[in-house]
Amino acid sequence: MRLSRYFLPVLKETPAEAQIASHRLMLRAGMIKQASAGIYYWLPMGFKILRKLENIVHEEQQKAGHIPLQMPTLQSADLWKESGRYDAYGPEMLRIRDRQDRDMLYGPTNEEAITDIFRSYVRSYKDLPLTLYQIQWKFRDEIRPRFGVMRGREFYMKDGYNFDLTKEDALHAYNRHLVSYLRTYERMGLQAIPMRADSGPIGGENTHEFLVLAETGESEVFYDSEITELTFGDRQIDYDSHEQCEAVMQEFTSRYARTDETHDEAVFAEVPEDRRRVARGIEVGQIFYFGTKYSEAMGATVQGPDGKQVPVHMGSHGIGVSRLIGAIIEANHDDKGIIWPEGVTPFHVGIVNLKTGDAEADAACDSLYKALEAKGLEPLYDDRDERAGGKFATMDLIGLPWRITVGPRGLKNGVVEVTSRRTGESEEMAPEAAIEKIAGIYAGL
Ligand code: ATP
Ligand code: MG
Repeated sequence: MRLSRYFLPVLKETPAEAQIASHRLMLRAGMIKQASAGIYYWLPMGFKILRKLENIVHEEQQKAGHIPLQMPTLQSADLWKESGRYDAYGPEMLRIRDRQDRDMLYGPTNEEAITDIFRSYVRSYKDLPLTLYQIQWKFRDEIRPRFGVMRGREFYMKDGYNFDLTKEDALHAYNRHLVSYLRTYERMGLQAIPMRADSGPIGGENTHEFLVLAETGESEVFYDSEITELTFGDRQIDYDSHEQCEAVMQEFTSRYARTDETHDEAVFAEVPEDRRRVARGIEVGQIFYFGTKYSEAMGATVQGPDGKQVPVHMGSHGIGVSRLIGAIIEANHDDKGIIWPEGVTPFHVGIVNLKTGDAEADAACDSLYKALEAKGLEPLYDDRDERAGGKFATMDLIGLPWRITVGPRGLKNGVVEVTSRRTGESEEMAPEAAIEKIAGIYAGL
């Protein structure tokens, strides 16, 4: 993309309404604009990242054998009356009446809708196990929307639902989700720690929230510092193996790590004192096993192997896709701007032309741009007729992890400059070497 043809409305001033870095930087980097409280326009740069995160979520879910579908944002109230949650949900639910006077609502989550699909088609235990998921907009009329996309009213979320014949199978689904979530967050360059949580209005016995540690996080968390040394890395997991998934779950949840809702001082006191941490975190996902609560209320049964009808065991699982952008920025920025991890960056590399209009510099940038594209990479080329300082400031603000700087002086010596946004270190090299270097960094990502 050439910056002169893109739509990147960066702001020079720090918007007064933004209290935390990620919100400030998303506004300044031209990623979002508030439409009304807790509701945002996703401008091209923000939208591009949203799509990248969404793709990662899709890939990791499908690796785990989960099947994508799409449900509508508007739901009929009837389903929620069946489950008993229409009254229970309270003012966070946006209730709408259509022209026929029917009660509708903008879905805050979809347990009822997915159960309706399931009970319409699935009759036999032979059709299980089944996990369906979607990535869709949700609406919750939060009392205090704030921090930009972190706590929006309209937000983008992956929600998945497993249906299993037995509790044991459903717990395997739980563990499988835990594994797939760990992989998802790591691909995004994040460490998200599973913490024992409270199930709230969804109900159920097993639930973990995934938290990214950050000073600006809304949740207070308590954990054994050993947990932060664990990474998933590139271990190969067979998602069908109950043992393998359970082993990962045990490994990642055996140490003390809880949100304030489940925190227990007496148990925490058993952690060696030098490893006890009290900190803040951003909740980027949650998994639940809730047994037969919805299937019993809504008649989601199958015929078991013995011919008897049994309610299915269910769980639900969410990833806050739009909130994750805020979490990634909270964990990856400095005073100049965002620093995207390579796995999620909107463009792989920026090209800064120090002297737009200089025939040689223009030609060198053009050929770099084409060569990078030929390698399957997406460069963002700042071809505007502006001062170098302004171009650097924009690149630093929007946070592309790598920058190639091209100017007449370097070209005389046959070199361009490659700079890491994270370390600020620069290296001069021939344009061909720069292309190889950037391609090498992204190979396998
Ligand atoms: P919270 O406690 O933050 O209100 P929740 O526990 O009610 O969230 P879930 O129902 O577990 O949320 O939704 C799954 C994920 O969706 C959460 O882990 C979070 O990442 C994201 N999410 C929830 N509410 C919001 C919101 N208002 N804005 C942005 N993302 C949200
Ligand atoms: Mg939650």
